[in-house]
Parts: sequence; C-alpha cells; structure tokens
Amino acid sequence: MDEVLVAEDVGRRYGETVAVDGVSLSVRAGEVLALVGPNGAGKTTLVRALTGTTDATGRVELFGQSPRTVDRDRIGLLPQAFTPHERLSARELVGYYAGLYDETRSTEAVLDDVGLADDADTAFENLSGGQQRRTCVAVTLVNDPDLLILDEPTTGIDPAGRRELWGLLEGLADRGVTIVVTTHYMEEAQRLADRVGLLEDGRLVTVGPPDQLIADHGGDSQLVVDGTFDEAAVASIDYPARMRRLNGSLVFYGVRPESIGRVVDELDTVGVAYDSLTWEQPDLEDVYLELTGTTVTDSGDARGTTESVAGESA
Ligand code: ADP
Repeated sequence: MDEVLVAEDVGRRYGETVAVDGVSLSVRAGEVLALVGPNGAGKTTLVRALTGTTDATGRVELFGQSPRTVDRDRIGLLPQAFTPHERLSARELVGYYAGLYDETRSTEAVLDDVGLADDADTAFENLSGGQQRRTCVAVTLVNDPDLLILDEPTTGIDPAGRRELWGLLEGLADRGVTIVVTTHYMEEAQRLADRVGLLEDGRLVTVGPPDQLIADHGGDSQLVVDGTFDEAAVASIDYPARMRRLNGSLVFYGVRPESIGRVVDELDTVGVAYDSLTWEQPDLEDVYLELTGTTVTDSGDARGTTESVAGESA
C-alpha cells in the first residue's frame, strides 16, 4: 500500500456552518496534491481535520494510523497562522524546533534546502516575505518528514516570493516528499500539483491531474475581446461558433490561432470597436468556473460571473 493519506467522508461543522462536507480523497507516496478554493471553501478546516487538530467526522489515516497517534516525526505541518518569533534568525528558529524531535537533519542542511544559507543569521523580521515563508517551511523540515502539509504557504507574499516557494516545493517533491498544499491561486496548483482537488463550500467538487481536469472541464481555447461596446453592433455579430458575454467581455470559444483573423474581420464588418484581444488556452480557472459558476480573485474571494449570449439582455 503506497497511500500516505486516506480520508473518507470527512466532515466538520461549526454550528450551522458546514466547513467541510463529506470529503473523501487519498494521496499516494511521492505525490503533490493541491487543495484549491476561495476563502471560506474549507481548506484550513480540511487540513486541520486531516492532521487531527480539529474534531471531524469520518475517517482519516496517515501512514495507516489515526492523525492523533501517527508518528509525528513523519509529518511536517505548516499551519496558515504560523508566525515564529520575529527577533530570531532562521538558523536559531530551525535549531529551536529541531530541539522538539529526537532525530533531526542538520540545521545547515535544512537551511540549504530552503535556500537561506546566506541569510541564516538575519532576524526573521528583516527577511523578505518570501524568505520569511521559506523560513517557516524550514521549520517543518527539521524532522525530515515523509509527508509535508502546508496551508496557504504563498498567500500574502509577492509574486517573486511565491515563485521562490514554488522552486522550494518542487525541489522537495523531486526528492520524494509527499506534499499536500492548499492555495487559492489556480496557477500555483496547476504548476505544482500532480493532482488538484477543487473545493467549494466545504465540498470536494472534483479531484484529478490538472491536465485531465482541463481536458474534461476546461472547454475550448478562447478569444477574449475587451472594450466599451456598441450593444447594437454586438447583437449583429455573425460568428459560426459560441460567443458569450462574460463580465462585460466578448468571449469567442473554440477559436484556433489561425482563426483569430476571421473574428477580427467579423468585428470590423459589423462595426464593433474594441480595446484589446487576448487569446487564451483553458486553464484550471476555467475548470473551476465551469464546475462551480464562480471565479476566485487574486485576494482569494469567490466571485460570481455575469454571463449571457450575445443579443440577449444581460
Ligand atoms: P478556507 O481555509 O478555505 O478559507 P476555512 O476552513 O477557514 O476556509 O473556513 C470554512 C468555513 O468554516 C467558513 O465559513 C468559516 O467561516 C468557517 N469556520 C472556520 N473555522 C471556524 C471556527 N473556528 N468557528 C466558526 N466557523 C469557522
């Protein structure tokens, strides 16, 4: 059996709020699973249920044991709200947390792993956002875990810091560490994960390899036309494929690169002026939109979309 984590029908309520609603999933050794969803989707509660830090219904096993009895040396957990002492350096923090375990990797090896060897003596409060987050990951690596669980490790840091974290997690995955990571960034999940689980309102809507999810639910490539449109002109567009209004944009589906000119010609013919044209291949965001009817903003909020077929009133 190479399943590191098994969850069956896991649920957690807070009063009337169903934070996690009957989630079943499994994670194989060496796999990277990303749990993705907007704020409030249940990511943190699910991580807490999977690690035994909240009471939940259903069944969870880590390495064949209950989360509360499993050998904690095998697990690294980075909770969302983890903030280490700000005046301590990465070297001091790694040393401090190493003291909680009988067997640990050397502090220098861990600092090397997270790319902080050169800044190891800088106080935490003086590190960049990305370096701070890598320090937090370092703390979870002191016991050389086989399974690493990270709750929104890249939220709140700038894009450069986020990319640093991605490199770090990819390196750990290459070494065979099994990783469960939550995020509200679809591109992050798409890049890092072998499989992605999409969460909405506590439910696991689907789980699968990102390419497979995109092929199954992402829809066609599309041409997005933005501008302030003359609605009468828009209504007279005659294009032999699906065209929809989405958040004010005109979206033409199933447009191959060589067909972009035909769309442009049609817009010119009917007199639709526009500011920009963007050709996009489907990605995980399209999958989430297709399956839930919402998109996730950069700040992690779910946003419903307004959509209509051209010619109908919006
Ligand atoms: P996410 O991590 O995806 O933002 P959470 O797991 O934090 O989602 O929250 C899921 C839902 O459960 C939300 O509606 C949230 O308000 C609620 N919730 C989470 N923790 C608590 C708690 N300790 N008490 C009451 N409600 C909670």
